[in-house]
Amino acid sequence: MRLTVVGCSPAWPNPGGAQSGYLVEGRLLLDCGPGVLARLREQNGSWPSVDAIVITHFHLDHWGDVVPWVWGRMFGLGRNLAPPELWLPPEGTRELEVFGETFGTPWMFERTFDVREYAEGEPFRAGGLEVLALRVPHYTLRTYGLRVSDGSRTLAYSGDSGPSERLAELARNADLFVCEATLEHGDLDGPQRGHLSADEAVEAFRASGARRLLLTHRPDELSVDDGLQLAYDGLELEV
Ligand SMILES: [Zn+2]
Repeated sequence: MRLTVVGCSPAWPNPGGAQSGYLVEGRLLLDCGPGVLARLREQNGSWPSVDAIVITHFHLDHWGDVVPWVWGRMFGLGRNLAPPELWLPPEGTRELEVFGETFGTPWMFERTFDVREYAEGEPFRAGGLEVLALRVPHYTLRTYGLRVSDGSRTLAYSGDSGPSERLAELARNADLFVCEATLEHGDLDGPQRGHLSADEAVEAFRASGARRLLLTHRPDELSVDDGLQLAYDGLELEV
């Protein structure tokens, strides 16, 4: 199973970076933050031909480029392609309707995507792969980590998460755990946690039994210890 890191910036972009977007097998996109659509267009020519997009939560750095995706389609780009499935967290359809009513048009997303909602703990098929969403703690926002499998290999993606035993459950025995590490120290987060330090990501990885760890969502200005692998935009690897 092939993973392409399209964008891996944290909530503020790294210099020249795109925000969250992870492409699996060239057809399933996990998150679609600002900068991701431009990167996909570089790879695909006119318009990305992904089968499905899965959104972990509604912080802008994880879904913002779904909006320009609508405008491009509206003006004819990718017209020859089937509308991608857009998988949202529970009640996400209503979230998009509110956004559309306020900033665009109420039907903008339905016209562009085959909009669906996933349910926690219920596997679904997207882009020919099996996906499972598990809720993780991220301040007060409903947020999910994703587990993706092609039947032989498994990739886990934390989304945005504070420390939690759920991360170990999410990445249990996975071949690759793509885990966020936004913070320099956990205590920068305040009492309600929403992100991880690199040490906390390593702790979750060790508890999970996953085979390989890829840290992501990390500001350029923070280093990581030698021996840890850090995502960068354009990184491709076999899971
Ligand atoms: Zn977030």
